[in-house]
Order: sequence, then structure tokens, then C-alpha cells
Amino acid sequence: MLLRGEREQVVHYCRKLHASGLTPGTSGNISIFNPLEGMIAISPSSMDYDLLVPEDVVVLDLAANTVEGRRRPSTEYDMHLACYRERDDIGAVVHTHSPQATTLAVLGWDLPAVHYMIGYGGTAEIRCAPYHLFGTPELAAAALNYLGKGYACLLRNHGVLASGPDIGHAWALAEQLEFCAGLYLRARSLGEPCILDDSQMAEVIGQFTAYVAQK
Ligand SMILES: [Zn+2]
Repeated sequence: MLLRGEREQVVHYCRKLHASGLTPGTSGNISIFNPLEGMIAISPSSMDYDLLVPEDVVVLDLAANTVEGRRRPSTEYDMHLACYRERDDIGAVVHTHSPQATTLAVLGWDLPAVHYMIGYGGTAEIRCAPYHLFGTPELAAAALNYLGKGYACLLRNHGVLASGPDIGHAWALAEQLEFCAGLYLRARSLGEPCILDDSQMAEVIGQFTAYVAQK
């Protein structure tokens, strides 16, 4: 089986996606890139994640051809592939409709640095990309643009794109953004939250970059 390790990891994290409540139903999708093979393992479209086995995970090349797999790839394969084509520092992508972060996306708000964990995304804030229809190249282009030099963005009226050098990073970032979005929403409902400034966030990002380099 091609990309067995990556497919097993996709299954593992898709089950976590369901169990964690980070995304409702079969929404959300996960991919992992294998740079040696030039292929990705991506979750299938519209499948109960509790029933997922590695054979259901689809292997695509970077031109979106199915190399191996019995299912259709996630409808958001363009968004995943755009990340790997354009960014050699991205090795995994986690897309969710997590409730708190998607609330910000519904408002069309960026997520500012209400907590230092925002820096795990590599930028001082998480920007909200404009709305485009799901599964389109336009959405993929907007998401890539709004990542900037970082690893995450919100998608207006849709959800969250989190990525990273590996699946552990991308997953942790998706979880941390949901935590930070919840903090921001609660703080905004009670008053005016304190936001970390650019120099404070530059320090944080420096620490995280050093930490990732040590791994
Ligand atoms: Zn989606």
C-alpha cells in the first residue's frame, strides 16, 4: 500500500477530529504530504470517520490525480494541495469547522493575539480570508494568501485552515486556535481584551521557532 504510514496517521487524526468535537459530522478533512514520493494522503469525502480504515484514505499526486484509493478525495483537496505546492515548510493540513473559531469566521473577524499560543501559528494574528464556495480553486487561493508566512487562517462563513511542518503541529494548532477563539469571544462579551503587541508576539514566535527546530 502506498503511503501506509501517512494513511494510518490520517485515520488516527480523523478519529480524533470526530471524538474531540472540533468539527461536526463528516465535515473537516486532513492530509499529510510525503515529499520523497511527491504525494499526499488525504481523508475521503463524506465518510463516517469512526468507520475509516487506511484503505479509505486517498493518495493524490500534486496535480490532483488519484494514485491509489477506492474513495473520492475530500472536496477540499485543492486547498490542501495548494499548501504543499506553494509552501515547502508545510507537511500536513487540518481543516475544521470548529465552533468557536468558525463563530469568528462568521463575523468576518481576524483572531488577534489574545493569548501567546496564537504564535504557534507563526504569526501575530490569524487572519480571516474572504468567502468563496467550498471546494473551489478560488477558496484554495484565498486560504493560501491569508496564511501569509504563517500556518493558519480563518475562512469566512466556513471554518479554519491549520497546517504545520508535521501532523502533530497542524493538529495542535487547530486545537489551540479553537481555545484562543473561545477566549476572545468570551473576553469580547465581557469587555475589551488585552492584546499582545507585535514585539511581545515576535518574542513568542522566536521561542516557538527555536522549539520546532530542536524537535
Ligand atoms: Zn470545510
